[in-house]
Amino acid sequence: MAHSTPASDGVVRPDGTPYAVAKDESDWQSDLTPLEYHVLREAGTEAPFVGEYTDTKTQGIYRCRACSAELFRSDAKFDSHCGWPSFYAPLAKDSVVYLEDRSLGRLRTEVRCATCGGHLGHVFEGEGYGTPTDLRYCINSISMTLEPLPE
Ligand SMILES: [Zn+2]
Repeated sequence: MAHSTPASDGVVRPDGTPYAVAKDESDWQSDLTPLEYHVLREAGTEAPFVGEYTDTKTQGIYRCRACSAELFRSDAKFDSHCGWPSFYAPLAKDSVVYLEDRSLGRLRTEVRCATCGGHLGHVFEGEGYGTPTDLRYCINSISMTLEPLPE
């Protein structure tokens, strides 16, 4: 399967500094399932409408499946009907980093975990969803683990 972005994107942050959590690719490979590895480390994309969190309404914190960093809050999740979990903002401004992705012959903005460089998905703007930011963070379920809030 084709890489959508260079593998080095998961090693060096866009500002040139290393990620706080860094492992050899062989270690990532043994710590993640093959599909997790493909999405998180090879910038793959999970099939639409099959991800475990696509329609999840559970309140909680979505953490990076590779390094457990906090990424998104359920408060910012909305129904985009696009087939992937969608958020209008990350949990904190510095929880994710952004990279240019021209792999489909058009410019998209790739979203990666700011702690380990794991590929999360893409962010799109100006689609008119009526959310507070008019941004849609389109994120692979398999890149995240939901930590439900205590009842
Ligand atoms: Zn991470």
